[in-house]
Formats: sequence, structure tokens, C-alpha cells
Amino acid sequence: MEQRSRPRAGRRPGLRVGRVFGVPLYLNASILLLALLITVLYGELAGQRLQLSPLGGYLVGAGFVVSLLGSVLAHELGHALTARHFGIGVRGITLELLGGYTEMDRDAPSPRVDLLVSLAGPAVSAVLGVAAVAATLALPDGTVADQLAFQLAASNVIVAVFNILPGLPLDGGRALRAAVWAVTRDRHRATEVAGWAGRVVALGTALLVAVLYATDVLGLLALPLTALVALTLWHGAGQSIRLSRIGRRLPLVDLARLARPVFAVPTGTPLAEAQRRATEADAGVAEHRALLVTDSAGRPVAVVDPAAAAAVPEARRPWLAVDAVARSVADLPTMPVATDGERVLETVQAHPGAQYVVTAGEDVVGILHIADLAQLLEPHRKMNT
Ligand SMILES: [Zn+2]
Repeated sequence: MEQRSRPRAGRRPGLRVGRVFGVPLYLNASILLLALLITVLYGELAGQRLQLSPLGGYLVGAGFVVSLLGSVLAHELGHALTARHFGIGVRGITLELLGGYTEMDRDAPSPRVDLLVSLAGPAVSAVLGVAAVAATLALPDGTVADQLAFQLAASNVIVAVFNILPGLPLDGGRALRAAVWAVTRDRHRATEVAGWAGRVVALGTALLVAVLYATDVLGLLALPLTALVALTLWHGAGQSIRLSRIGRRLPLVDLARLARPVFAVPTGTPLAEAQRRATEADAGVAEHRALLVTDSAGRPVAVVDPAAAAAVPEARRPWLAVDAVARSVADLPTMPVATDGERVLETVQAHPGAQYVVTAGEDVVGILHIADLAQLLEPHRKMNT
């Protein structure tokens, strides 16, 4: 239902089942829970209503699961194919318990494209919903086909209507963001506004769930799932607000100031000796230097990992070469010192790690510590590393 432009972070979205229109399709394991719940609960209801055998009822339930997943897939394809039309790469579509999401390789370049990509999904759902309503009216009452068409109509209309609620992470929130972006010309401000609207939508959903339960419209069984929807919305809205705040601080990123200066020691230097020399060099300097290990020709080969170094007992440090607690420069992501904030964040998201090598031409001029970057971008957030 929502769209994310999240750089690949090494986390798999689920089981890859193939490609649709060239877009990789993933199924999250939570789908199994949904399939089981619907097959059993809806299958029993449909079985009673249509006077089917228990097995017949479950088959109708399973048929509904398949058509529901097909509807969600069509909705996501609406987003994905529209994005691709505007030259935005699509990494994949994932179907999961509460719907699905489309991952794009970057944000929309303009408010207009953002708006069109967001609305394409609900538009597909609305068209499917109307077609299913027409089918329900045309099919004879009390038949399996009529029952399925009715459920399909209901679910597509619900998906379309719910998704155009104007709060992130919903599609309507993205449309709201595009509108605020167009007016203010400030994408991060727009994301923050749509994120707060998302929190209002989440609270409204929670309130509605409570009212529907209190008035016996919602059964006890529907309560966990609808409460999960409200919680997921609240969490997604919070993430959007957080990202917008990070986005607004990105211009503050200046690698020349943020990266820790390096202190070079030759390969084979005992850890205790390297630390002693660096501390000496640090006298009068506020920040701690990063230990850079160089080969016999003075070329940088590795960077000491402060966490690994700190884990070595004091008594062992004179006997352990720095190389034992260092990571090869070749294994660490590299960024030129002039890299701007947006690109730094992209690199960090694409290659999660603790240290990044900052270069000027061929030279290593500093080491960026992820904790220093986090401190700059989110000064009020407690570090949980
Ligand atoms: Zn959507």
C-alpha cells in the first residue's frame, strides 16, 4: 500500500517468488498467517452462508486469499509501473500481512511525479473495486462466484479508501506531502507535515477501532489485526517525521570537519604503542584520532576498529599488533571528503557499518564514525549502539 524508497540495506524482504512485468516479487512469511486466518475464519463464514461442506468453505476461503493477494499486487503494480514510467527504478514489490509495499531506488524528482506515483495504487484498487461491484450485481445471488466477487469488491474499496487517508505512510499521506512540497518547495518540511497528519490518522484509526468494538460492530477476533494496523500507522508516521528531521540537518554534514583525523602507524606496531603515540599526538586536540595502519611503503592498508581495540585487555595490548584489531581499507566503504549530506546518508544506508574511509584523491584524510554522524543528525536521540 505504501511506497518506500529505501536503499538496499542487506535485509531481505522475504522469499523471492519471481518477476511480474520485470519487477521482482517477494512474499513475506507473515503472509502465511494472513492466509491461514482468512481461509479458516472466512471459509467457515462463507461455508455457512452458502451451505457448503467444511472443505468447500475452506476452498472458498483460500480462493478469497488468492484474489486478495492479487488485488494487493495490482495496487502495488500501479505504483511500480508508474514510477518506472517516470524513470524511477523499482527494486521490488513485497506482499505482507497488512498489504504490501513497493521499493524504489530513489525519491520522486518532483511533487507532480510523487503525486502521480502515490495515487496510481489507490486508482487501480478503485477500478478493481468498481469492476467487482459490477460482477456482484450481475452474478446470481447465493453462488460461490457471487460471494467471491462481493468480498473482492469490499476489500478493494476498503484498500482504496483507507489508502487515500492523508497521512504518511499511507498513499494519501504521500499525496499530501507532494502538495505541501509543491507549495513550500521544501520536501523535508512537507514530509514532516504529512508525518504528523499520519499520527492523527493513526489515532483516528485507533479511536474508530475502540468505538466499533464497544458497539459490537467489531468482534474480538478482528481486534488484534485492526489494532496492529493503527500501531503500524503510528510507527510509520513517526519514522517519516524522524527522516524529515534528519533530512533537514543533512546540509550540516561536512566530512572535512566530521571525520576523525587519522594517525598513521606502521603495520606490526603493538596496539599499546600505537595508542600511546596517538594520545601524545592528541594532546591539545579535542577529538580522538583514528588509527590508520600503513604498509612499509607508507600506503594505508587498514583502520583500527575502536570497539575491537577496546575489547583487548590492557595487559595484552603491548603484545598484540594493531593489524589484529584493524579492518582492511579495501573492506571499508569510501567517500570523497567533498561528498554532500544526501550522498553520505545514501552510502551509509547502502553499506551499514561503523567506519567509513574519507579520501581526498588517493589519500586517506579521515575516518567517519557512524556514531559521530548520528550525533550530528539526531542530537536529541539516545544512542543505542
Ligand atoms: Zn499504495
